[in-house]
Amino acid sequence: MSYSFSMTSQTKILLIGIDGLILQRAIDSGRAATLATLRADSYFSEMVVDMPTVSGPSWTTLLTGVTQQVHKVIDNDYGNHNLAAAPDLLTQARMLKPEIVTYAAAGWPPLIDPNDVGPVIRTRVADQSTGKHSIFVRDGETNGYETVDVEVAQDAVRAIREIAPDASFVYFCGADEAGHLDGTIEGSYFDAINRIDGLVAQMHHAILERHRMLKEKWLIVITTDHGHRDEGGHGGDSPQERASFVIAHGVGVQHPSWPAQIKPEELVGHLLSTL
Ligand SMILES: [Zn+2]
Repeated sequence: MSYSFSMTSQTKILLIGIDGLILQRAIDSGRAATLATLRADSYFSEMVVDMPTVSGPSWTTLLTGVTQQVHKVIDNDYGNHNLAAAPDLLTQARMLKPEIVTYAAAGWPPLIDPNDVGPVIRTRVADQSTGKHSIFVRDGETNGYETVDVEVAQDAVRAIREIAPDASFVYFCGADEAGHLDGTIEGSYFDAINRIDGLVAQMHHAILERHRMLKEKWLIVITTDHGHRDEGGHGGDSPQERASFVIAHGVGVQHPSWPAQIKPEELVGHLLSTL
């Protein structure tokens, strides 16, 4: 076995989080060509998220692999959280395989900002100093996600090209932001979905390029933390608010054969099994 083959035999994971995305509505609108293409050629599971259908608890469950009973995040304030008992996906990957390189980029501060109420994604200063981990932190709550999502994607594409992290998480919130303002039947929700779809395409293309040049294997996984009501807003128990999904699309590797239906707290385990 050649050295270069052994270096590229491992599958790299990119988890993309799109906050507040009603996937089927996005696809039916015709404004999400990339998501439609990936959805049609992937492992796919519908997923039902726990109550309350709020970003904080839902992303924390999706990113740590444990439920609210363990991580204790029940709202977006993160008061009395127990994140100490709930290492994130990237931290768990590092514990499993100390040699790997991880990366996260997000504009919602609780997920990633060491100076905010979380962060769910551990900062791992020592790993950052040795190049094993890097984070791209922006504040979309202050600056708006239309701008911040683009900055997040630009840095993620740079990271894919320059460091090709073994496990990464990249997060977009513009669709959720627009859904709250305009509802999810028509209007800016779909403009935001169209923008994010383009950003997903940029990352997909960067990965295709690495596979073409270097024969790397990648798994692109996409999910959301909750849906939205027609008039905009979430938090309740309606099927549309609780609806999530998992798309898992292999590049240079088969789409995974995970169980037909997976729960939010099971995603991390499936992702780690792929590493
Ligand atoms: Zn959310």
